[in-house]
Amino acid sequence: MNVAKVYGDAVRRRIPDRPERAGELIRTGLHLESFRCAHFADRRMPKAYRFLNSKAVGVVGDALSHPESYAWTNIFAPAELMQTFGLTCVSMECLASYLSGFWLEDCFIDRAEDVGIASTLCSYHKNFIGAVEAGVIPKPALGVTTSMVCDGNVNTFRYMKRRFGVESCVLDIPQEWSPEGERYVVEQLRGLIGVLEHRTGRKYDEDALREAIRRENRSKEYFRDALRRRVTHSYPNTLTLVLFLLLATHLNIGSQWVLDFFRMLDEEIETYPPATGKRLFWIHITPYSQPTLQSYLNYNDRYAVVCDDFNLDYMEHMDEEHPLEALARKMICNIYNGPFERKAEACAAYAKEFRCDAAVEFCHWGCKQSAGGAMLLKEKMRQTGIPMLILDGDALDRRNNHDGQIRTRFEAFLEVVGGEKGEAG
Ligand code: SF4
Repeated sequence: MNVAKVYGDAVRRRIPDRPERAGELIRTGLHLESFRCAHFADRRMPKAYRFLNSKAVGVVGDALSHPESYAWTNIFAPAELMQTFGLTCVSMECLASYLSGFWLEDCFIDRAEDVGIASTLCSYHKNFIGAVEAGVIPKPALGVTTSMVCDGNVNTFRYMKRRFGVESCVLDIPQEWSPEGERYVVEQLRGLIGVLEHRTGRKYDEDALREAIRRENRSKEYFRDALRRRVTHSYPNTLTLVLFLLLATHLNIGSQWVLDFFRMLDEEIETYPPATGKRLFWIHITPYSQPTLQSYLNYNDRYAVVCDDFNLDYMEHMDEEHPLEALARKMICNIYNGPFERKAEACAAYAKEFRCDAAVEFCHWGCKQSAGGAMLLKEKMRQTGIPMLILDGDALDRRNNHDGQIRTRFEAFLEVVGGEKGEAG
């Protein structure tokens, strides 16, 4: 029996007439899942990932239970600054993924399309918009997003402001770093601070921000160290865990629990046996519910996603003494910002540094940036000597996934990479 689906069906039945009750059930479900992950997780899941899994679900459950303490963001928003005002960042993509975890995405995507959202929009946006339209997601203190990468984000936040009155701040990020560009973003961050002070009644505390950045630097040192250890040690994971990692590397980076997690990860990897299988570098979102990819990549010693571009999109040391400048630089110099070549070069360099045997890009349906740069990436990987597969599909909407096609292409690719027929875990 699929417990998440059965639970999701109970939520679904309440959405039309009792959306508040449906929202309550979603929050309860998240808290139960957090408890389950902490105490009854899959035995194959390493300790550090159990901790991450439980926290990642728990913080979102808490945020939805206390809407005044959370903000809708994208994953590039300055989470470190928001934390100092007691706000939890919950990204639109994260909420959409969690709703899909309850098997509810079809219902919300249809709802969004019913209110006039274009069917060609990325399903993360539609799922999120549909859920808010349905009344199951509480309104947050405010919304904060950046102009980077995603062509849907700014419009979605504007829509939420117009339709539901959620105050939204958009940080306009220049494509290239320059002293003027950095000052321009710092000025916007000062403007955001004014909004945050007004919304929360708290004063900006620069020392608290410095502390958050210090923890962030430490977290990233552990993370890089862990990835190096992963070259020689096996360490089981799943496609879902690669996504959960985003809550550590982005939405909660700078917090104490994230630092604890990365320390735990770094220490634990060393205790695992030597690595044997093929190592994949993943580009863009991992489609965690895709049956073929699940069967090959979840807890399989023979093939594993060892790192990905999203979680490594900015790994530079940040200047704690000038925290606003450091945040500005982080956004401008993110590998996802600016010309696509920047991302292609960074991906190839990471794949080489962490000894990946192959790369896979998942071009999510409706996402222009992932499809638009795919051939550039493939060429860069070819120059680096790393074979790359481009898969097309919908990472979220199960109705839009064509398992047969993905299976044929993925298995053929594994034969190329492994020199033998692929084997599911
Ligand atoms: S998948 Fe692409 S379009 Fe969708 S939210 Fe992410 S970046 Fe935006």
